[in-house]
Amino acid sequence: ADLDRDLDALTAELDKGHVFHSWSAQAALKPLPVAGGLGTKVWDHSGRTYLDFSSQLVNVNIGHQHPAVIAAIKEQADKLATIGPATANLTRGEAAKRITALAPDGLDKVFFTNGGADAIENAIRMARLHTGRDKVISRYRSYHGNTGAAIVATGDWRRIPNEYARGHVHAFGPYLYRSEFWATTPEEECERALQHLRRVVECEGPASVAAILLETIPGTAGIMVPPPGYLAGVGALADEHGILLILDEVMAGFGRTGEWLALDGFDVKPDLITFAKGVNSGYVPVGGVIISNEVAATFDDRVFPGGLTYSGHPLAAASIVGALDAMQAEGIVDHARQIGAEVIGPGLAELADKHRVVGEVRGLGVFWAMELVADPATREPLPAALMGKAKAACVERGLLPFVVDNRIHVVPPCVVTADEVGEALATYDAVLTLLDGEIA
Ligand code: PLP
Repeated sequence: ADLDRDLDALTAELDKGHVFHSWSAQAALKPLPVAGGLGTKVWDHSGRTYLDFSSQLVNVNIGHQHPAVIAAIKEQADKLATIGPATANLTRGEAAKRITALAPDGLDKVFFTNGGADAIENAIRMARLHTGRDKVISRYRSYHGNTGAAIVATGDWRRIPNEYARGHVHAFGPYLYRSEFWATTPEEECERALQHLRRVVECEGPASVAAILLETIPGTAGIMVPPPGYLAGVGALADEHGILLILDEVMAGFGRTGEWLALDGFDVKPDLITFAKGVNSGYVPVGGVIISNEVAATFDDRVFPGGLTYSGHPLAAASIVGALDAMQAEGIVDHARQIGAEVIGPGLAELADKHRVVGEVRGLGVFWAMELVADPATREPLPAALMGKAKAACVERGLLPFVVDNRIHVVPPCVVTADEVGEALATYDAVLTLLDGEIA
């Protein structure tokens, strides 16, 4: 046991000494040491176990250490661990076939990338070259990744210190709880958000707009499920002006919403779909763009000016095949839908009724947000210091939460069991009781 504690200490020491972390001032960081995991649980070297209701960065959809995915990676490693992108590779083809089979008809090709951000970069590049236009309209309250165009397409504070890419325009999207449109019903919010987007397109000059880029359901920005008709309306607006629709399914795709793709829940057909995260649950870094046949045809006789050393990496491809086949065989996507509708949703609704600090809960599948407020009447967001307390209180109780701004996102792996949800709800209940005391 001493040796195990020493390993946790060594992990912390090496990390402190040599690892530079994302999105952080480095000095005060104390990252949790994690040595292993299985399903919905992770643990440190000393054996302290945590229920992972973050799915890390909302990417471990199939759960930790799924044996079929591990086996697929090992088998491919024995066969061919790496090969360049200009070759044809059977595993890569099998992965692309499975991904396109899940997309709407008429999107038959995949360009593989290293992750989500470079999927966005390449989708934007394709849209610009296909249309011969420059501007990309995305939402305030969105996250699209941390590279040149992806971070400037992002609609949160992280865009502002990184504004080096050009041609990006932002518009407000539907978010009834904090409506930008003085709306009081989902119908009003939908109609007014569409009218606002139409005005932005008109004022930017429709003939200068290459693409409208939206997360099908904005994730990090707050899991705002669009009202019925919104995405269909955006699709129609884009079509009317020859603008491409790019749906970012990096976080929402591959089971998270209880559908294979989040767009399956809506009446919308994009030209380009970006994916990463859930496609292989992050066992090997990968992402990509699913491309419509029209856009793909643009590059039949014209060179596509983009590429990556690891595009279609065989270990990534094998992990995709392993993950998607296991999700199919084990009914994991249906499970996510069902546990969301029958256990997580009702459980969170009960917490919202019970606790003053909960302003709203919303979501579906294993993709939920609890919005916390200092005052339910004014909806003033709970301050950062109290959110920090909430996070620490969850971790102390053995639950890894996903905390953004004034929200706790309830985003376990798709394989989470009803008992595990029960455990997590009990933890949230205790933490929300503490917070109710702070705002009383
Ligand atoms: N798009 C969305 C919707 C995301 O949630 C993320 C990451 O959180 C990205 C893109 C960027 O993906 P990556 O971090 O793999 O580059």
